[in-house]
Amino acid sequence: QFFFFFLAEIVQNETAMGQALRQAAVAGAFELHFQPQLDLEKNQISGFEALIRWNHPTQGAISPAIFIPLAERSGLVSVIGDWVLFEGCRQAATWHRQGQNNRVMSINISSAQILTAGFVEKVRSALQKSGLPPKLLCLELTESIFVGGRYAEAVVILETLAKDGINLALDDFGTGYSSLSYLAKLPFHTIKIDRAFVAQSDKNERKKGMLKSIVEMVHALQMSVVAEGAETQEELQVLQNMGVNKVQGYVVARPMSALDALNVANAIDQQNSAISA
Ligand code: C2E
Ligand code: MG
Ligand code: MG
Repeated sequence: QFFFFFLAEIVQNETAMGQALRQAAVAGAFELHFQPQLDLEKNQISGFEALIRWNHPTQGAISPAIFIPLAERSGLVSVIGDWVLFEGCRQAATWHRQGQNNRVMSINISSAQILTAGFVEKVRSALQKSGLPPKLLCLELTESIFVGGRYAEAVVILETLAKDGINLALDDFGTGYSSLSYLAKLPFHTIKIDRAFVAQSDKNERKKGMLKSIVEMVHALQMSVVAEGAETQEELQVLQNMGVNKVQGYVVARPMSALDALNVANAIDQQNSAISA
């Protein structure tokens, strides 16, 4: 009986949430936050990751970790994804026009979204309408694009995007299917190591060992490494010692509104160039 009620509640919530998602997409209730990425070599903020936020009228701020999977199931992910793509490019282009240091905007693309008809055209249109140079856009994908039998299609799309000069990053590396065979074949420029390997890496020798091996492997493949979710100075130090290229985590900055993210990024750059001067 407990299980029955549990299920009923989920179904009801999913329906209610699905409806609310649709309304939110129409009413423009989504917002993008931006989290700075620190380039450890240059000691400068090299870009931002755009992270969607949904302020629900009654439930408050709902995490994308909850509503993105729901949107994927209800077929709404393209509606949301298109908005994120255009809004992320628009924001990046605005900063670029203001002379903001050629920072790269990273945008999360769900697997369902990249396989929808006309995806490449949408990306081209977002770049063209915003005026953002392709090299300042990075699309983040997860390993789930390689399951479900549409691998060959995904590869063609990725290669087309890479030829256009757009950066491609493999997100959450190490948590999914992690088939190493495709890594050597696919046109990814960057691997984002999941926080699971980063958290407590200063205290855990096995994690440290895994991190080191991943970084070496990725570098051997001529790709760069972004470490996700570093929260402490000790973790940051480990990543720096290992030759990780970029860090994105609370230790650098949290995801913030556009204005705050830009101010924080500029403040970090200024502080770091003052230190090195
Ligand atoms: P992700 O792409 O791996 O994004 C990184 C997540 O880690 C973000 O969670 C970010 O806020 C969080 N994070 C960053 N630094 C730290 C840290 O130091 N400590 C901890 N504990 N967390 C940190 P967020 O914003 O809740 O997003 C969760 C996931 O939702 C994302 O994971 C991504 O998979 C998905 N997502 C977010 N925005 C979008 C979007 O616009 N489109 C799609 N398709 N998915 C999105
Ligand atoms: Mg991401
Ligand atoms: Mg990630």
